[in-house]
Amino acid sequence: MSTYEPRLAPLFSQLIASREAACQAQSDSYDAQHPGRETREQLQEARRRLADQRFGRCETCQAPISLRRLITLPATPYCAECQTRNELQQPLAVRRLTLHLKKGNIP
Ligand SMILES: [Zn+2]
Repeated sequence: MSTYEPRLAPLFSQLIASREAACQAQSDSYDAQHPGRETREQLQEARRRLADQRFGRCETCQAPISLRRLITLPATPYCAECQTRNELQQPLAVRRLTLHLKKGNIP
């Protein structure tokens, strides 16, 4: 499994910048309708991790995140296993409510 190496930082910096530009081109309602996508905050956080050399490691278990996953989702702070575990722990109802509130609806 290939993993992130510091020499790849310039490439990931470019990739994150292009994702940020894509985010800016889309409206906030687009973000709410595509909750699986990276948000601007997540991309900014990824840029900080890149600068701090924490990028490419899972924030939960410290395992290296696969290169394939990082290319698909450069903003992800978690490895695939921790991400799945986090999603399973979060009840669907909470996710639905979060999405609802993001759209600006007050229950
Ligand atoms: Zn992990």
